[in-house]
Amino acid sequence: MSKKREYQVMKKEDIKNISYDKLVEYLQSIESRAFHADQIYDWFYKKGATRFKQMTNLPLNLRRRLEEEFLSADLTVLKKQVSSDGTTKFLFELQDKEKIETVFIPTSKRGTLCVSTQVGCKYGCRFCASGIEGFARNLTCAEIISQILYVKNAKEENNITHIVFMGVGEPLDNYDHLMRAIRNINSPKGMNIAARRITVSTCGLVPKIKKLAGEGLQIELAVSLHGSSDESRDCLMPVNKKYPVDHLIAACREYNKATKRQVTFEYILIKDVTCSEKAAKELGRLLKGLLCKINLIPYNSVSEFDYEAPSRNKIFAFKNRLERSGVHATVRAPRGKDVSAACGQLRHTM
Ligand code: SAH
Repeated sequence: MSKKREYQVMKKEDIKNISYDKLVEYLQSIESRAFHADQIYDWFYKKGATRFKQMTNLPLNLRRRLEEEFLSADLTVLKKQVSSDGTTKFLFELQDKEKIETVFIPTSKRGTLCVSTQVGCKYGCRFCASGIEGFARNLTCAEIISQILYVKNAKEENNITHIVFMGVGEPLDNYDHLMRAIRNINSPKGMNIAARRITVSTCGLVPKIKKLAGEGLQIELAVSLHGSSDESRDCLMPVNKKYPVDHLIAACREYNKATKRQVTFEYILIKDVTCSEKAAKELGRLLKGLLCKINLIPYNSVSEFDYEAPSRNKIFAFKNRLERSGVHATVRAPRGKDVSAACGQLRHTM
């Protein structure tokens, strides 16, 4: 089948699902000029356009053709909540009425956007709100990118410097759409955000961590560990039954080796559950020799669960114990707790 024919039978697709190279191919297939791809990308990713008709430097017939053959779906904001610390949470509705949340976290030096990758989550971690209502579907590449474009275009001050895939869902369970979105976010033609400023967080999907190691990207990998042994991790994260701790750590070693990048382990601190002296010692032993750091996350409350965060003293005692074992540890400052925008509080329902 000729390229031209191939594109004619293609169903109407969101243009943000199409990579730059494919867009060039498409333009060539309709006997248009390849450089229009640069203009289209510029309009979407740099100039904040959302419609083809705004792209006034494209020939009129091309604009019309694009409109006939592609769409560029908008996200609808159902709710926007601003925390007392300046964090903003958006509840978006997708074309099929499913919902997701996205959080913009400004600090003096950075603007971090926490992006969702799925509607709901399959993995059912026992402390996280995102999986409580189960899993509905993967987000498309366009829906992932649209969260970023929406926030970027919404306000002058929303200067997004970092992207973290730590919103609703398991990013590595939506691998292909995620990677396509990352390549676009990273590309100088697209959003031009450096790979080292993009973080993917996973509950520990071992085969996908190995696959990610082979992508040749310099992105940051964060792994939700939350337990120092199978015994403790099994109780909190059902995914551990499938990918136990030793397999997970082996995959992280592979990731270190292939990318020369350190892995960040996220470890939740729950009063009387995860922050004993024994757990700190075990964790220190487990991570010894690995190129990594550990980010301690004091539990953020989720109404369906009975857990509590430990006291400040306990948190820092745990951190100091880890540092004595030679593991670099930081404590994550919660952001946007008053609007349920902190880690583990995001949902896909109103
Ligand atoms: N599914 C991915 C992406 C989610 S990132 C993952 O599991 O890594 C969100 C981070 O917040 C994860 O580390 C998650 O384990 C953590 N988290 C979930 N619920 C939490 C809670 N109630 N308090 C603090 N952190 C939580």
